[in-house]
Amino acid sequence: MPPITPLPQYLAQRYHGWRAMSYAENKAWYRRLAEEGQRPRAMVISCCDSRIHVTSIFGADEGEFFIHRNIANVVPPYAPDGDHHGTSAAVEYAVTVLRVANLVVLGHSQCGGVKGCHDMCAGNAPHLEEKTSFVGRWLDILRPTYERNADIADEAERLRAMEKEAVLVSLENLMTFPFVREAVEAETLTLHGLWNDIGAGIIESYDPEKNSFQPV
Ligand SMILES: [Zn+2]
Repeated sequence: MPPITPLPQYLAQRYHGWRAMSYAENKAWYRRLAEEGQRPRAMVISCCDSRIHVTSIFGADEGEFFIHRNIANVVPPYAPDGDHHGTSAAVEYAVTVLRVANLVVLGHSQCGGVKGCHDMCAGNAPHLEEKTSFVGRWLDILRPTYERNADIADEAERLRAMEKEAVLVSLENLMTFPFVREAVEAETLTLHGLWNDIGAGIIESYDPEKNSFQPV
């Protein structure tokens, strides 16, 4: 067995607080969720970054969002090669079993994952180039975002452009999944690209007509 220890006190305390307040006040609701199963309307793919609070931003309750988080909110291309694909599995389940109506990719400002990809592509992060770096190999998927924005002189601006481009790369990759493409073409699924400016509290949405992100 791995060396598993009891829950740290601060987590146990927070749980007891939730149980005494949120759960106690909504017992019937939780029982209904347990009995009826989940029927989320939307899937959200966001970054693992602890500052991105998807349920809070959209005021979502339990059962409403099917959320998948990974480094830099990346969707890899469709690759049915028998390997372990956590993100692809989540997308498959959301689209083919839960049949969500909306699939949202949510990027964000000051994304460490995108910065890592940037530094790797600029030759400043040799540790990420190692074959054994899970983060580096994951961020390989976003390399095109560096190439597409290499002409932006200001680094902060270039990173921001890459963060938004990363959302578009994920949306492009989503369309390589046959079941996503089919659902989109059947108009049972819509795709959305968002970018959250953490400090300003702003959400921008990709507008295909303007080919840019616009405030919601
Ligand atoms: Zn991030």
